Amino acid sequence: MSENGTGGAGATALPVVVAIDGPAGSGKSSVAKVLARRLGYDYLDTGAAYRALAWHVLERGADTSDAADVLDASGDFDVAISTDPADPRVSVGHTDVTAAIREPRVSDAVSGVARVPVVREVVTALFRRIMAGADRGIVVEGRDITTVVAPDAPVRVLLTAAREVRAARRSAELANEDAGAVADALHRRDASDRTVVDFLTAAAGVEVVDSSDLDLEQTVDAVLAVVDARLGVTDGR
Ligand code: C5P
Repeated sequence: MSENGTGGAGATALPVVVAIDGPAGSGKSSVAKVLARRLGYDYLDTGAAYRALAWHVLERGADTSDAADVLDASGDFDVAISTDPADPRVSVGHTDVTAAIREPRVSDAVSGVARVPVVREVVTALFRRIMAGADRGIVVEGRDITTVVAPDAPVRVLLTAAREVRAARRSAELANEDAGAVADALHRRDASDRTVVDFLTAAAGVEVVDSSDLDLEQTVDAVLAVVDARLGVTDGR
């Protein structure tokens, strides 16, 4: 089986891949999960794998900004990511890290591990295996899905939102944290991530959906319209 599903009809069809990229706070995780449930597809949060590795490096007491430390830790990084959009869970070894990888200490550290090229190669190979093993289809979200992980996906979307909208959304999620500090951390992480992957410019053939003025349902509908157009669905759902 090809590692990049291109969709098609019939019992032997490859899984359809819906690739969604975007910056932190663009709403891509929420949108991708709802979209996957509506389509009856699997769901893959690629950021969760990078976060799990950052958690693993921190657990070892190693330095997430040191490429050699990160590489060393990646040697015994045993990650499992479930692709159920109703209950996406992540574990490292026998530890369920679903909640722990959302902690600010992990968010602050994750860009460091994500900038190591060998790590990106290993993690990308894992994503492609998960994609190939999906049943009917899979919604995959991250930063480099439309360009590196699944550049041949039949549906590729860049989800954007104005800078202040993204910061406000993230502060609402982290209600106990200081809003200004959350916004600063988010912009710092984006700036760091952008030195590795350009996820603010749509590559050729990638559809841009701006969610600045849309709520979750409206954003899902907008992305679903792209899915239908790209897959040639004309009879509604
Ligand atoms: O999507 P999320 O914000 O959870 O991603 C966490 C981090 O993982 C990002 O800040 C980025 O450093 C890294 N990442 C990446 N490539 C992806 C997905 C995430 O480098 N495809």
